[in-house]
Amino acid sequence: MRIVLVGPPGAGKGTQAAYLAENLSIPHISTGDLFRANISQGTDLGKQARAYMDAGQLVPDEVTIGMAKDRMAQPDAVNGFLLDGFPRNVGQAEALDVMLKDEGVKLDAVLDLEVPEDEVVKRIAGRRICRNDSAHVFHATYNKPKTEGVCDTCGGELYQRDDDSEETVRTRLEVYHTQTEPIIDYYRAQGLVVTISALGKVTEVTARAMAALKQSDEG
Ligand code: ADP
Repeated sequence: MRIVLVGPPGAGKGTQAAYLAENLSIPHISTGDLFRANISQGTDLGKQARAYMDAGQLVPDEVTIGMAKDRMAQPDAVNGFLLDGFPRNVGQAEALDVMLKDEGVKLDAVLDLEVPEDEVVKRIAGRRICRNDSAHVFHATYNKPKTEGVCDTCGGELYQRDDDSEETVRTRLEVYHTQTEPIIDYYRAQGLVVTISALGKVTEVTARAMAALKQSDEG
């Protein structure tokens, strides 16, 4: 399956993507994770991306589209993938359509995670992420790790992302509304959008997502 995941920052895309990718046996491709890996390795691409990310703005398409394309060309993504954080504007969605067309393949679904804005701000402000794996996510209030600062899953160090400050979160939400939300209409016109609520327990949301994808596959 080829799936695109959309939703505001804090919707739980990364968390859900990890579970869904495993359930569906497809790779989880997160442009945010790819950028963060480049930043921690000190690559040129990382240097180009950093200032945009810290400001909550989108990294320019010239950089992002090439990086996404390279990742999708890896052998593990030939038969399917779950895209998390890409495309993030209509230009990227059009570029993705061209890539898929060149390969003679199509998207199966665009899964839209819905969550109210006040919830998003609460979730992100307390978010703590494991240095070893961004899918190991905790929350300072709602999902505390057993030991403060330590990942329950693998013992890694928990940290707060540089772009998770309240001010940057507001910019990221604004960017989401103005630049990313329009891709939902773009994909709706292709009949691909499945919307689910991202409220509730992580396992409940995963179950909802799997049911919605199954239904869209049959329908
Ligand atoms: P979230 O969805 O939780 O805000 P991500 O990890 O997906 O976080 O992305 C973090 C940042 O990485 C974004 O705010 C943006 O600066 C950059 N980024 C990720 N994906 C893209 C993309 N497709 N286009 C441009 N910038 C991106």
